[in-house]
Amino acid sequence: MTPMPGTMEGVPLRLSDLQHRDDRGIVCRACGCRHFRVLYTRPDPRGGLRRRRECRHCGRRITTWEKEITFYP
Ligand SMILES: [Zn+2]
Repeated sequence: MTPMPGTMEGVPLRLSDLQHRDDRGIVCRACGCRHFRVLYTRPDPRGGLRRRRECRHCGRRITTWEKEITFYP
């Protein structure tokens, strides 16, 4: 895991990098495809991030919660 650039200036995350990383492990339960569109991302009060995703093939929507994002100042 590499430190996120920009966190010192208050820029939260480079979301494009995170999406590329965590998209690999997610499979649609309805159609089995791995391609999701991220509808929105928001921080979770417990830490980590919630993402609302929509399957590009069948439109099924899922919410993922990620806590892999850790800041190393
Ligand atoms: Zn699907």
